[in-house]
Amino acid sequence: MSDTENRPSNFIRQIIDADLASGKHTSVQTRFPPEPNGFLHIGHAKAICLNFGIAQDYQGQCNLRFDDTNPEKEDIDYVNAIQEDVKWLGFEWAGDVHYSSDYFEQLHGYAVELIEKGLAYVCFLNAEETREYRGTLNKPGKNSPYRDTSVEENLALFEKMRNGEFEEGVCALRAKIDMSSSFMCMRDPVIYRVRFAHHHQTGDKWCIYPMYDFTHCLSDAIENITHSICTLEFQDNRRLYDWVIENTSVPATPHQYEFSRLNLEYTLMSKRKLNTLVEEKLVDGWDDPRMPTIAAFRRRGYTPASMREFAKRIGVTKMDNTVEMSVLEACIREDLNDNAPRAMAVLEPIKLVIENYPEGQLEELTVKNHPSDESQGTRIVPFSRELLIEAEDFKEEANKKYKRLVLGKAVRLRGAYVVTATRCDKDEQGNVTTVYCTYDPETLGKNPSDGTKPKGVIHWVEETKALDATVRLYDRLFTVPNPAASDDFHSVINPESLITLETAKVEPALAEAKPEQAYQFERQGYFCLDNRIDEPGKLVFNRTVGLRDTWAKISG
Ligand code: ATP
Ligand code: MG
Repeated sequence: MSDTENRPSNFIRQIIDADLASGKHTSVQTRFPPEPNGFLHIGHAKAICLNFGIAQDYQGQCNLRFDDTNPEKEDIDYVNAIQEDVKWLGFEWAGDVHYSSDYFEQLHGYAVELIEKGLAYVCFLNAEETREYRGTLNKPGKNSPYRDTSVEENLALFEKMRNGEFEEGVCALRAKIDMSSSFMCMRDPVIYRVRFAHHHQTGDKWCIYPMYDFTHCLSDAIENITHSICTLEFQDNRRLYDWVIENTSVPATPHQYEFSRLNLEYTLMSKRKLNTLVEEKLVDGWDDPRMPTIAAFRRRGYTPASMREFAKRIGVTKMDNTVEMSVLEACIREDLNDNAPRAMAVLEPIKLVIENYPEGQLEELTVKNHPSDESQGTRIVPFSRELLIEAEDFKEEANKKYKRLVLGKAVRLRGAYVVTATRCDKDEQGNVTTVYCTYDPETLGKNPSDGTKPKGVIHWVEETKALDATVRLYDRLFTVPNPAASDDFHSVINPESLITLETAKVEPALAEAKPEQAYQFERQGYFCLDNRIDEPGKLVFNRTVGLRDTWAKISG
């Protein structure tokens, strides 16, 4: 990991290099600060790889801190899921998990300090008045009539707020900064509000909760964070961040740096909207493999290494952009092409009968688990007179482009013999149900002795030994590249984002499949056993990704 040659380079790392060179800092301390109000998505994975990656490469530390100042929206289940995701991505946080709520007592003390310095006041304007007084981007705000309340009275009022003597919304503690600032966030922002809400960490201890902008910078200072990295929407808020640090007696001066957030085509990246998809049961939970959450990618068969590689390829800049799905898919496809064992699965089977193969005979063929990685060894694949092949791999007639089984033509059965189709049976609708063929017993691992070379290779399973499986084919969840831009994302949900095939038959070795471990189903794509199967022994495979990039075609 400390191989300097392989380190990504970006503007944040350049700042850190300069800070270390100048002696401004002697070590690096970062943090990843999720709010536990939903599962982490792939945008968070970018932030995780950045913060934890920096800590790793600079022999520093990265804290995991739950930014938990909105008790109504947060939940302990999210706290647990987030820790699971960070660990799964391959990172370790320094020491114990931190919570902003660990610092509520200290934060309260800093708020009192601001009041004592005449830099904060309790304001009784209602929501509408507050909005009116704030002004707009083109119009300066007006001072609140409560701005000049005495320090003593403010201290007493804030104490009353803490003691639950004011209803929610009646008053708030505001920082006294500048109502005519060109940065809206500096126009006397609220730093504490009243909420009679039960908190997942602090229970009913508090009925006042600090706001994000006040909490975040102080928590960074308390934890001695050197480089506080966040996304660009907080750029303006940096003024407030610095103001709070400057005007309180915190022991450190952390600095905030902003980078552009990840946007990925055909997905939504806001926890609020993802929550709606879950709540309205438009998907099967936060880890539904169509979701852009880390838990969903995991369930779909993505590897931690592929997600880290993706973060590396997209890089870290200050430029807003939207990444194409093909970039992400290339990462997992390359990983699985190198590493996933091969297996055979027939998703929509028809029967193949080899008429010159001895009845009742069962052969055990030895087949390589990976075409180039010898270390993956071999497995036994049963073979007999009656096999199953993919319905779409047979045609009575076809042109030369169709390199599969055609009447009168030869094709190789993967890992087995060359067969030639002779005739077929059909049902009443004209669908082929059984194909009859002959095989050449001399072609196991060799070409036919007459010098002909079969045009194609198809996959198959032995009928009596094959296992039943359900296969879920996932596609993009939305029909448009930027669903966030549509008025109502409901109208752009892809009705074919999940196709479930109950008819699949897989080779017996797949009885040993482990959840989340992807296989390449020969000629079909990459699939892994689902990690939420409720019936023991049931085989449900999720498609991780196809073998080739089909996205270029869709968007082109
Ligand atoms: P969302 O907008 O999806 O609800 P958030 O910013 O509210 O996300 P937080 O839990 O506050 O989510 O985010 C934790 C960290 O992850 C923050 O530092 C935030 O900047 C970063 N982050 C969130 N979304 C993205 C993204 N799309 N790309 C990169 N970093 C992100
Ligand atoms: Mg947030």
